Amino acid sequence: MAENNKIRVRIAPSPTGLFHVGTARTALFNYLFAKKNKGSFILRIEDTDKERSEKKYEKDIMDGLTWLGMKWDELYYQSQRTKIYEKYLQKLLDEERAYKKEIIWFKNPNKKVVFQDLIRGRVEVDSSVLGDFSLAKDLKTPLYNFAAVVDDHEMSISHVIRGEDHITNTPKQILVYEALGWKPPQFAHLPLILGPDRSKLSKRHGATSLNEYKNLGYLPEAIVNFLALLGWNPGDNRELFTLEELTKEFSLEKIQKGGAIFNIEKLNWFNSHYIKQLNLNELTEFCIPYLIEEGLIKPNFKIEQYPPAYGGYDLKQKYFIGKSKEEISVEKLKNIIGLEQERIEALSEIGEMTEFFFIEPKYKPSLLIWKETKKPEIIKSMKILGSILCDVKPVNFTADKLKEILMLEAEKCLSTDGKTDRGRLLWPLRVALSGREKSPGPFEIAEILGKEKTLKRIEAAKKLLKK
Ligand code: GLU
Repeated sequence: MAENNKIRVRIAPSPTGLFHVGTARTALFNYLFAKKNKGSFILRIEDTDKERSEKKYEKDIMDGLTWLGMKWDELYYQSQRTKIYEKYLQKLLDEERAYKKEIIWFKNPNKKVVFQDLIRGRVEVDSSVLGDFSLAKDLKTPLYNFAAVVDDHEMSISHVIRGEDHITNTPKQILVYEALGWKPPQFAHLPLILGPDRSKLSKRHGATSLNEYKNLGYLPEAIVNFLALLGWNPGDNRELFTLEELTKEFSLEKIQKGGAIFNIEKLNWFNSHYIKQLNLNELTEFCIPYLIEEGLIKPNFKIEQYPPAYGGYDLKQKYFIGKSKEEISVEKLKNIIGLEQERIEALSEIGEMTEFFFIEPKYKPSLLIWKETKKPEIIKSMKILGSILCDVKPVNFTADKLKEILMLEAEKCLSTDGKTDRGRLLWPLRVALSGREKSPGPFEIAEILGKEKTLKRIEAAKKLLKK
């Protein structure tokens, strides 16, 4: 541990690929541990592999951490620390703890290595099974196991918290600490993240990069909450935690040993929870990009970047329906989106869910038929609806008023056995307006569509039935 007992942890991603959800989970646990203990959370970009490291990945990782709300206190690049590694490599060579044979190897002392893992307990390895292992390609090109040790020491890292896939590296690293005369930090190896089939999470199971989840419309709050429970729990059955609450609750003791299953339904549940917490302006801002992307609306401004950098589009702008010149007010967009707020699980679903508000729905005539009713009865319902709604003044075309008016009529509908059967009127109305088996209620849809479009869709349904 660092001299002054200060907690210092790090996330040390290699910028050789997009920010992986597993790295995000490791980052989160490090971040929470640091914040809980008033310590420092350090970001170290492990970019010693010049061929595979790319700036775009580095940016993706940093953007991802920022988006999730994890601010780092210090930032280092291994590529800028070559001299430091060189010094210690030379030291090991001089002291004959390492040797060159094309590349630079560590001379394994072949001994028992023991460490106390904070999650897994005592780990004991006979290092002779590891053989001599590589430290660097040359003096200026260190490899992971060496650079990480030098940095963890130089940066006074107190706890190395990382994925269990690194546990086989730990004995090697401990030997290097010893060879350099340094005290190793404490180690905590996090359980692997598994797919639902209990094999290691991979592309095969679905999206693995944080970006993909961001683009699908998962909120950072949901992802943080979900990731926190991938291997950790508060010790009781509470599940909902903000980042701030987690920084108070978190402890390494409550991390489980066994693999943690990445369950997308659970993530959807969290996302739907946090979507419900948004106010309608926020939700609308976040949804607008998806409606634009699906071609359902068009903005009057030029889009520089899709999706917009971690946020939504401006509600003060103008939007048009599809490719038309018909403006759709932000108020209306808010109404449409608000109708789905309870149901939506990921923002990217919004287009599919609300499409019928923007374009005329296509559906099979049979969908208009309510239970055991016959076609002519439904045609009659459509006629009644047409004539009633035709007489409603546009100012009265609100969900409440329409409900009042149409319910009076619906109450008169009787089923074959003489019972009130509102569905005879309201089912075909809802289908005519939405084209869907499931949708928000017909009155709400009618209000948003307005009188003209509502009548047009009823007419279209009638024609469809008569075909
Ligand atoms: N660069 C390594 C990785 O991305 C860091 C592992 C560690 O935390 O020591 O897996």
